[in-house]
Amino acid sequence: MNGLRLVFDNAFIRELPGDLADAAGVRQVHGAAWSRVAPTPVRAPRLVAWSREVAAVLGLKAADVGSSRFAEVFAGNALLPGMQPWAANYGGHQFGHWAGQLGDGRAMSLGEAVGADGGRHELQLKGAGPTPYSRTADGRAVLRSSVREFLCSEAMHHLGVPTTRALSLLRTGEDVVRDMFYDGRAAPEPGAVVCRVAPSFLRFGSFELPASRGEVDLLRQLAEFCIHRDFPALLGGRADAPLATLRGEDAFDEALLAAWFREVCTRTAVMVDHWMRVGFVHGVMNTDNMSILGLTIDYGPYGWIDDFDPDWTPNTTDAQDRRYRFGWQPKIAHWNLVRLAHALSPLFDGVEALQDGLDAYVAALDAARRGAVAAKLGLVAGDRDDVASMEALEVLMHDAGIDMTRWFRALSDVDPQAPSLAPLQGAFYDEDQRVAAAPALEAWLADHAARVVADGWEPAARREAMRCANPRYVLRNYLAQQAIDRAHAGDDAGIVELLEVMRRPYDDQPGRESFAALRPDWARDRAGCSMLSCSS
Ligand code: AMP
Ligand code: MG
Repeated sequence: MNGLRLVFDNAFIRELPGDLADAAGVRQVHGAAWSRVAPTPVRAPRLVAWSREVAAVLGLKAADVGSSRFAEVFAGNALLPGMQPWAANYGGHQFGHWAGQLGDGRAMSLGEAVGADGGRHELQLKGAGPTPYSRTADGRAVLRSSVREFLCSEAMHHLGVPTTRALSLLRTGEDVVRDMFYDGRAAPEPGAVVCRVAPSFLRFGSFELPASRGEVDLLRQLAEFCIHRDFPALLGGRADAPLATLRGEDAFDEALLAAWFREVCTRTAVMVDHWMRVGFVHGVMNTDNMSILGLTIDYGPYGWIDDFDPDWTPNTTDAQDRRYRFGWQPKIAHWNLVRLAHALSPLFDGVEALQDGLDAYVAALDAARRGAVAAKLGLVAGDRDDVASMEALEVLMHDAGIDMTRWFRALSDVDPQAPSLAPLQGAFYDEDQRVAAAPALEAWLADHAARVVADGWEPAARREAMRCANPRYVLRNYLAQQAIDRAHAGDDAGIVELLEVMRRPYDDQPGRESFAALRPDWARDRAGCSMLSCSS
């Protein structure tokens, strides 16, 4: 007997209307939040990597994860008792345009596991085969994008950024055909399945789809369900009451719905501000990729800022407009929240409550930004002038081609009593640019040092706080690509090693200096290291 056991409580499919048709095949699904599906088995499941922290939360031991049963279940070849796979139905605005029904085309949830911590953890396979929402695609995922999702979601968690998690990464033993550059040269690549984990995978688009179809009943049910399952704090002492009881008591009045929307707005602001703090570019901020919980979700052609450039996007599909460029993420999140507000408007009498939520986004973003500026610059608290100082610094960093991560990490080594660029030398990509920018940067440093001295924070404590806000290690695009290249050559050890490094991003890790180095020249324009397509 092996010990791989989980307890499931599948509220989503119990409480919300579903499409139970057994018929396979792509279709429009009306009046339902989900469709019954089954994973398509694969030839030879093999575990590549797993997250010990996520396993622990689920109550799984190393022996459980290492078992052949685990590989069968988490590649989609077998189900554990209590698993009831479903694909979620949702729509979305893609690149600014309403795209209609999208849904889980290659993701399927297995169940909501009740974890060792008592929390609820939806387990979702990505790449486990077609669903009614697969449209023209195959429901599969390639190893390279699965490695990227697995590593980045864990790296983000350890950086303190709200995110979905990943339990496991498995090879399927089967190839998947992809046209990586959309140039007609489709080629087979190794396939993989990631098991993602989150309290909820509801997206803005989950609400937009029924709203777009005039399915107000379903919209209301989704909102009430989401509040009850995912935002219990909003219900106060009534959180433990069954959903049906609360409905009977008319608990979900407009005030509660307004508080919920406001909370969604606030969480979204906090999430996006974290992205800006660590230099993360999501790359595809379509409303179907925006979590209602304010979690970073759907890691596709994301990227990390090396040399500071607010106009950079990693996504080749977006190269023309660069809608999802680094510096626009806060305003795009707001645009997405406006779409969500429109979708929810049938549940409200007027627009005031929704406008109030959108205003809360602006206020929360402002507060988060001031907090992040203070933390990154080593100030007790940040005010408007500090934000302006950060903006001035960002212009200088852009002009000078400065590496974002290395600059802020090294900033804590600058002595405010004797400010100089010396500790920051290792943050420059180009010597000529460094020389040209030095006077302006020195002037900025002098102003900043004066501000720090006036602040009066005890130096050792200040330095420690700065190092907790400015990571030494981030999942630079080329690092992930190197691990992928090794995996394509049959060696998965680079993935496991990278996960280990990213588990402690704020610690100096002796012997792992190379993971904190400047992006090498060869990686500047290489596919996977600079730009990525959506083909995955
Ligand atoms: P994304 O841009 O990855 O968020 O995907 C947008 C939509 O396309 C979602 O509905 C996905 O489920 C679907 N999709 C992406 N890749 C595939 C695939 N290989 N097979 C089926 N559906 C896919
Ligand atoms: Mg998506």
